Amino acid sequence: MSAVNETLIRDVVAEVLGRLGNNGATTTTKTSLAPSNPAPKSESCGCGTKKATSAPALRGKFGVFATAEEACGAAQEAFLQLKQGGIAARRKIEEIVKALAEKNAEQWGKIEFEETKIGRLDHKIAKLGLIKLVPGVDWLRPDARSGDNGITLEEYTPFGVVGAITPSTHSIPTLSGNIVNICAAGNSVVFNAHPSAARCAAVAVRAYNEAIYRETGIENVVCIIEKPTLDSFNALCKNEFTRLLLVTGGPMVVKAAMQTGKRAICAGPGNPPVFVDDTCCPTRAAKAIISGAAFDNNLLCIGEKQVFVLDQVADKLMQKMSENGAVKLNPSQLEKLTQAAFTITPGQGGGCAQAHTNKDFIGKDPSVLAQAAGINLPSGTQLLFGETDAMHPFVQEEQMMPMLPIVRVKSVEEGIERSLQSEHNYKHTAVIHSHDVENITAMARALDTTLFVKNGPSPAGLGLGGEGYLSFSIATPTGEGITNPRTFTRVRRCVMVDNLRIY
Ligand code: NAD
Repeated sequence: MSAVNETLIRDVVAEVLGRLGNNGATTTTKTSLAPSNPAPKSESCGCGTKKATSAPALRGKFGVFATAEEACGAAQEAFLQLKQGGIAARRKIEEIVKALAEKNAEQWGKIEFEETKIGRLDHKIAKLGLIKLVPGVDWLRPDARSGDNGITLEEYTPFGVVGAITPSTHSIPTLSGNIVNICAAGNSVVFNAHPSAARCAAVAVRAYNEAIYRETGIENVVCIIEKPTLDSFNALCKNEFTRLLLVTGGPMVVKAAMQTGKRAICAGPGNPPVFVDDTCCPTRAAKAIISGAAFDNNLLCIGEKQVFVLDQVADKLMQKMSENGAVKLNPSQLEKLTQAAFTITPGQGGGCAQAHTNKDFIGKDPSVLAQAAGINLPSGTQLLFGETDAMHPFVQEEQMMPMLPIVRVKSVEEGIERSLQSEHNYKHTAVIHSHDVENITAMARALDTTLFVKNGPSPAGLGLGGEGYLSFSIATPTGEGITNPRTFTRVRRCVMVDNLRIY
């Protein structure tokens, strides 16, 4: 073998072993992480392809831009810098986002609560304290194969700039978790936040970028459009640097994203049903239902939104709910609240009447709902509940209020069928309280949801009291599931023919 070939093979072996080291995680670090004013110069190679420029307008903004064009240009430049920074830079970004989310949880929870005026301050703070549970760089491990024909490595590599849309219900938590996932995979990101939760999002983006710049020299790896609009959404989706979309929101934005022609990962709406059978522990079921449905005043897309319960255990379940912090509305109180919380438009041409949720009640405290129902609540009330029929607006609408409708059913089959109907084929989340494995299996098969939680509160499905990992973006209609760094990667295969299998 010639010296050249030996040297070449030694280099390739060193590279491959380096990549397979450390439990398979890629370990090579290409550049120092010290800040060094690293903005690349705009270069033209003469091929006519447009490149991100490092115009002075992009400096000193720390990710907060007036237009999608500026934000995408800056994010593209940061993506190239991140590529140079290697795994070490990604790891640093993950550490910074997790540490700042925790450190600023109280302050950021407060500004988000003051801006959006929905949910609960204590739970807004708690959500930011959970960002440390979102999987990051260590999640990405290349797959290697070795055989008679040599060795092959499949690596999870970045796309480039990801365009991300965040909801009003969890603005900074969704944004922060998305950054951990997206940047761990080596991408940069541009956010178009919900207009009613955009100021707090920009505060977090600026703080993240300032710290990331200090530690890595990369300035705009996380960008945001300061005043988001439908036009800025369209501009973000159309921008040539935007390679992939991540949308977290309701049906309209999912539809809009899917019509852009870009690949979209969609974390869409839900209307999670709960089915309770007569084999469950009513106390455990009641406590779990209250803790899931009351969390952040039921803003979570996974939160329990309606309960179907077998007739023979319904009274016991409701008694246990009353003993554990929930208050039952009687039929006339429930009717008053329904009139206030929904606008019902009569059906056109013999069609069904349509209920529209009154935004003034979304994510509000139980005391606000109780006032509309005409009752005073004991302090510490977490949740309201009341008996309804299966077609009631509180059952059919994704109402996001701390008011849980309870529907009696006569059989397991009816409970599963009504759960399925009320979930509206979102394939998002369903919950069962049962110790009968056949009932559990039947519901899992019928509902076919992305998350299916048994005998626990819905957040257990996101690793909060159940096994698993956390993300605030659960990709439902597009099928990626609970997002993680791998969701934002391209799989690339590198093949060495005949050599490098050493035994
Ligand atoms: P929303 O749909 O009103 O807004 C979500 C985002 O989409 C916002 O940034 C908004 O500005 C944007 N948007 C809305 N309509 C749009 C359109 N036509 N074109 C472009 N952008 C548009 O939702 P919200 O009230 O902020 O959040 C609650 C909804 O999000 C619920 O339906 C909930 O289930 C869902 N959600 C889903 C997940 C998940 O992981 N699957 C997580 C959180 C929230």
